[in-house]
Amino acid sequence: MKIAIIGTGYVGLPSGVGFAELGNEVVCIDKDADKIEALQNGKITLFEEGIDELFAKNTKSGRLRFTTSMKEGVEGADVVVLAVGTPPHPVTKAADLKYIYAAALELAEYLTGYTVVATKSTVPVGTGDDIETLISQKNPFADFDVVSLPEFLREGFAVHDFFHPDRIVVGANTEKAKEKIKELYKPFEGQTKMLFVKRRSSETIKYASNAFLAIKIHYINEMANFCEKAGADISEVAQGMGLDNRIGAKFLNPGPGYGGSCFPKDTMAMSYMARQNGVEMSLINAAISGNAQRKKEMAQRILEMVKGIDNPKIAVLGLAFKNGTDDCRESPALEIVEELISPKVQIVAYDPKAMGVACRLLGNKIEYADSMYQAAQGADVVALLTEWDEFRTLDLEQLSAIMQHKKIVDCRNLLNKAEVVAKGFEYQGIGK
Ligand code: NAD
Repeated sequence: MKIAIIGTGYVGLPSGVGFAELGNEVVCIDKDADKIEALQNGKITLFEEGIDELFAKNTKSGRLRFTTSMKEGVEGADVVVLAVGTPPHPVTKAADLKYIYAAALELAEYLTGYTVVATKSTVPVGTGDDIETLISQKNPFADFDVVSLPEFLREGFAVHDFFHPDRIVVGANTEKAKEKIKELYKPFEGQTKMLFVKRRSSETIKYASNAFLAIKIHYINEMANFCEKAGADISEVAQGMGLDNRIGAKFLNPGPGYGGSCFPKDTMAMSYMARQNGVEMSLINAAISGNAQRKKEMAQRILEMVKGIDNPKIAVLGLAFKNGTDDCRESPALEIVEELISPKVQIVAYDPKAMGVACRLLGNKIEYADSMYQAAQGADVVALLTEWDEFRTLDLEQLSAIMQHKKIVDCRNLLNKAEVVAKGFEYQGIGK
């Protein structure tokens, strides 16, 4: 099949690489000329485990190409995938659909033959109808269907998740479109559950899923607060809860709050959509406000640790919103760092993969180190903010020797409290 992917970011690029690896002819389109130039020159524009190899293989074979030209990518395509951003609207916090609508209008004139326009971007219920109207108005002769094809990949595991999806949800209102998407996902037949639903249901499934996961994180964070006061241990509590299949063990790790490019914006968009439809979603609203408060509380914990120390130095380990990615959008780590910044506090940060991205966002508001030990040199407290495996291997002897004060705030419960305390550190984890 010939596939055009519009938007070559954290969703578009792994999807493009994946579809090419399955044997399709893929053209990835982006309006960011620098990004496309880098990709044309063989330079990957984001960090994802395992993407480099497949990218190199498929660009070499000619199955995967990159362009800024909508015409070049869309003409002759069987499926056009929309993977542009849907960030929060600056005022309403609803999903801002300006990129989606622009892309729909731009692609319309290049549709040739029967084409399925599949929306992988996370879009509010009813957006498929809008896309359909826009394309029909711009190109009344176009033969096409609009399908909702929500993306469930996890950043950090995007390549793995492309080839091993938990489920493929397809919101298609015509048989012809369903058949085309079935053909697209034929290699997954028998391996993955494909669910065909109404387009509006499919659009809702994505928001309902992300909001549910965000609530689960908020819930375990509140439970961690309870454990701290009640003398229980959240790790044990989460383990006990997770053994119940009805609950499931995933998303029960307490931490500094959820972040990233999806949960914060999707919960706000879902809350907005609910209000538009006259429905009050109190759980989602509680998660949104509780999560915002969570990051402030984490910063407060770190500052408490250095209370009374003149001009304290805080070593921040982790800036990405989670491990396995360089994505710092809505990263709790960055929000916590912003809370810590003051003229009297020195902040030195290190992240294994996100230094470049974080540096562009934080600039010279903080200092940066080349390793976790360089960051911790002379520090009064180490704050662990992202769950990179590298941080689990922190050598406590070495840390002891180089820190000014032996204090650790572990917002991801990466270290073993008993071991850390035995080495003479003052330690604060989450829910312990
Ligand atoms: P991103 O910002 O990484 O990438 C979007 C890309 O689209 C950018 O490179 C931008 O230049 C490009 N673009 C915008 N308008 C364009 C146009 N008219 N023509 C061509 N290119 C255009 O965003 P992302 O993280 O890949 O997310 C894309 C969508 O997928 C969002 O709706 C998001 O909610 C959803 N989603 C993201 C994830 C994730 O883990 N990042 C997971 C599931 C769903």
